[in-house]
Amino acid sequence: MKSITQKRTSKKEVAITLDDGPTEYTPLFLDLLKKHNTKATFFCIGQQIEKYPEIFKRIIAEGHTIGNHSYTHPRHMGFLSASKVRDEIRKCDEVILQYGQITTHLYRPPFGVTNPNIAKAISQSHKECIGWNIRSLDTIITHENKILNRIIKRLKKGNIILLHDTSQKTYKVLVELLVNLEREKYSTFTIDSSLKN
Ligand SMILES: [Zn+2]
Repeated sequence: MKSITQKRTSKKEVAITLDDGPTEYTPLFLDLLKKHNTKATFFCIGQQIEKYPEIFKRIIAEGHTIGNHSYTHPRHMGFLSASKVRDEIRKCDEVILQYGQITTHLYRPPFGVTNPNIAKAISQSHKECIGWNIRSLDTIITHENKILNRIIKRLKKGNIILLHDTSQKTYKVLVELLVNLEREKYSTFTIDSSLKN
């Protein structure tokens, strides 16, 4: 399974990707991104969209990119049949269409797990598989500074940064990260299918 994990570019630019929302914290992230005039890519979980439809609509209204991140984000994704994975993708697509009136070609597998069944389901669903090449570990590491330093040490042209709009902690990391990117003269890009190479 070939997934997109970076952009080939000669520009100083990186992508901010936010997984597992929308959540009660997402509005904080949206306010912050707006303040910095920055667009991100949100890989949303179908069930979270149903829980926070207004926040989901706001993400779209503010010009960010939406990707499919499955309907329930199952812990045991690696053990599902191709047809079950397809159901997860399709149900999330339906919710995205219902609340956002949009469709997406982007799919990020929960936990980044891929195997032959998942690969088959992704290609049968006509999705691009989107990974990352900077894993912030923001859901694992407790100290904000450690998370931030992990990211900053790894910054390179075209990198895709994995974060989660699921906590105040990650929000604080993003506050500092955006200041850093501006200082280092990095711009940002959002994910789209044209990144395929
Ligand atoms: Zn996830």
